Amino acid sequence: MSNEARVFKGWVRHRDKFEMKELRLNPIRPKDVVIRNLAAQACYTIVTNVTELPEEAWRTRSPGHGAMGIVEEVGPLVTRVKPGDRVVTPVLPACGTCYSCLRGEWWCCGHKNDIDFAHPDNPPFAVMNDTDEPVWQDHTGGFAEYAVNDESWVVPVNESKLSDIELATLACVPGPGWAFGLIGMPVEIASSVVVLGAGPLGLSIIQAAKMAGARLIIAVERIPHRLEAAKKAGAHVVINSDETGMDELVPMIREMCRPSTDNMYAGGKPYDGMYNGLGADHVFEAAGITFGDPTTGSPDDKTGAHFITLGPKLTRRGGTFVATGVIAPTSDPKVWGPAPGPFDYHGKRYLSAAYGGANVLRDIPRLAHLIEDGYLDAKALVDPVFPFERADEALWSAANRDGLLPIITFS
Ligand SMILES: [Zn+2]
Ligand SMILES: [Zn+2]
Repeated sequence: MSNEARVFKGWVRHRDKFEMKELRLNPIRPKDVVIRNLAAQACYTIVTNVTELPEEAWRTRSPGHGAMGIVEEVGPLVTRVKPGDRVVTPVLPACGTCYSCLRGEWWCCGHKNDIDFAHPDNPPFAVMNDTDEPVWQDHTGGFAEYAVNDESWVVPVNESKLSDIELATLACVPGPGWAFGLIGMPVEIASSVVVLGAGPLGLSIIQAAKMAGARLIIAVERIPHRLEAAKKAGAHVVINSDETGMDELVPMIREMCRPSTDNMYAGGKPYDGMYNGLGADHVFEAAGITFGDPTTGSPDDKTGAHFITLGPKLTRRGGTFVATGVIAPTSDPKVWGPAPGPFDYHGKRYLSAAYGGANVLRDIPRLAHLIEDGYLDAKALVDPVFPFERADEALWSAANRDGLLPIITFS
């Protein structure tokens, strides 16, 4: 089948509309892989395709990232996969040969520039079938029947026994959440862990912390059904931040994370003074920004910066604070506070990395094995499932936070 003949359906962000259109695939490049999508996430980071529709969208584009599918066709220089392979297209590439990959910093792989918004010269992947108007693929795609990606972004999972929906969970959140707790910023055995936000990202971090052997997992969240999900995922304590209030969180959680002794000649740490060591071993921010007006309500601070302010205060001296959510920039001076600051004298470590610091080519198959063997629970995080034709409703579900992780499937 020639590329020119490949006509398919795709959701398109076209000026002030988000609608399903008939598209025609453009010729592919030598390192491109054509994938027939089978399942894809309605990730929270792309909900602005339905919540905000300005007159002038930047480019006509088909959105999405976080899909899995079957390879239909490959360019002549592709070696990683072949037609018929079952693949995940994660939110991050891993080429293995660029400057960053050679240094083990996969999450900075230079191929991140391959995607539409990252470089102005990236070509459109398709055209509107009726008007020939160019359509770009936003990120790795997932809201169209076909996606085209450089092979750096394509992870073969032919051996996996998981369903299409379970494999799609590895393409973006919760995949990075599992990776944060197990690979990039691993949780220590018998440690105390605070997770701020219990959406699909926070819940997957909780699952990872439980698997890693954390002794005390505290989840902070404001939506009741997500607090319930946090308990099921393995949180020992859940705190409703609407009921408790942000100001009370720090003393309450520090108290819960007290050391078992104050004898500093026997593993203790001080309870008070400037250099008291109270706080959790690991704190993960997984709340992020709030777009629009969710039916489940909005937090007091829709920018998400408040949790970034609290995170370092909840972290013990020498502990790790990881920001994982997409947040708006903050100019809040309380983030850093007066000297000595959290990240200098107090030795708290601020860590972050895309996809939890994992190498997607190495680690997506490993995480899939952990799901197959029952250590991690992908199915518990998927809610609801929509057919491709109702992908706009899936995005609204994500925007409203009325479920956990919405997934779309292609018949
Ligand atoms: Zn995502
Ligand atoms: Zn690379």
